[in-house]
Amino acid sequence: MHCKRCGKAIGTDRGICPFCGAMLTSDQIKIYEQDKKESMKKVELITEKYGNEHVVFESSSSNENKLIGVLIVLGVLVLLAVIALIIVLNQ
Ligand SMILES: [Zn+2]
Repeated sequence: MHCKRCGKAIGTDRGICPFCGAMLTSDQIKIYEQDKKESMKKVELITEKYGNEHVVFESSSSNENKLIGVLIVLGVLVLLAVIALIIVLNQ
């Protein structure tokens, strides 16, 4: 689902947007729950078609992949900040 206020994709059902802190309306949460059901249906269909191997891949959802991507970007930024700090301190 997407936040009504900032428009970012939210992979959470905590009822609050992690990006801008906007409270999610019950309508939005309903839509999110609906999306979750839809994607579960999709996984079931894939299971029928291809078997369990693909379900493992499919259930490691894009939300987790996005989170890992964000963590990698943050790690690189911290590393760059540390390198910059070392360079500044050595001058
Ligand atoms: Zn937001």
